[in-house]
Amino acid sequence: KAKERGKNTYQYYSREMNQKAKARTFVETKLRYAVKNSELQLYYQPQYNIENSQMTGVEALIRWDDKDMGLISPKDFIPLAEETGLIIEIGDWVLQSACHQGRIWQDQGINNLNLCVNLSVRQFFDPHLVDKIKSAVENSGFDPACLELEITETAMLHNTDRAVLIMKELKEMGIKIALDDFGTGYSSLVHLKLFHVDTLKIDQVFIRNADLKGRDGAIISSMIDMCHKLQIKAVAEGVETIESLTFLKERRCHLAQGFFFSPPLPVDKFEDLLCLKN
Ligand code: C2E
Ligand code: MG
Ligand code: MG
Ligand code: MG
Repeated sequence: KAKERGKNTYQYYSREMNQKAKARTFVETKLRYAVKNSELQLYYQPQYNIENSQMTGVEALIRWDDKDMGLISPKDFIPLAEETGLIIEIGDWVLQSACHQGRIWQDQGINNLNLCVNLSVRQFFDPHLVDKIKSAVENSGFDPACLELEITETAMLHNTDRAVLIMKELKEMGIKIALDDFGTGYSSLVHLKLFHVDTLKIDQVFIRNADLKGRDGAIISSMIDMCHKLQIKAVAEGVETIESLTFLKERRCHLAQGFFFSPPLPVDKFEDLLCLKN
């Protein structure tokens, strides 16, 4: 009997695994198609200087608009893209489109807007990364001084020596680097010692639904203080309430990003925020 049950369990798991593998192949095929047929879009979320309420930056965030499945969040396809290597193609597209869009805004007189683009691990260690960024900047005519690349600490763990070299090259091009999702990866402080980043993005787990008078508040304050001491910018992610914004302002956090201001928006809606006149 036990043997039989064991066998059934095995079959159950293998069937489930089979279904998962099939679902994966299905999504992978669709994603390949999406990359080729421009079903990918960039949304834009503003970042504000907390002190003077000015919009100082914008983060480009990818969306996949599938005609059957609807709008798909990057959390649901970036990991797969990363595993399959499709991320390289997707990432190239993101860089080119973001720079192209950034140039359009610069042509319309928006000159001091920092354009933030997320890089995945594979992309960061792509041997052609620096060349690709150079061509994205040159082909679009976008001012590289306004480009900021967001990388997670976990990504850099891969090969810290190379990461230091890559960052040095990017810096020489005038590009800024942000450490994304700060506080959720590994050995964060070692990374701050090794990598001379321009910006630290405090992950939203510390800020959304935060207990500001308790532990969360203490952690956020310490991270902001550390940024001041290192002379880098602190960006708070996931700012959803006036309470969190007030807290961040009192603690002299530089920038804030979150639903309190705006969710990520498609280009035309984002341009309404920029108040562009045509
Ligand atoms: P991230 O870079 O940390 O981006 C911030 C995420 O937080 C975005 O999710 C944004 O919509 C969300 N968010 C912003 N403010 C709030 C808020 O106040 N409340 C809540 N609940 N959420 C907020 P999104 O767009 O779903 O992106 C998820 C992640 O996918 C990103 O996290 C980033 O790691 C990755 N990603 C997005 N676009 C790209 C891309 O073009 N390339 C790569 N490699 N990764 C990307
Ligand atoms: Mg980011
Ligand atoms: Mg983040
Ligand atoms: Mg994140």
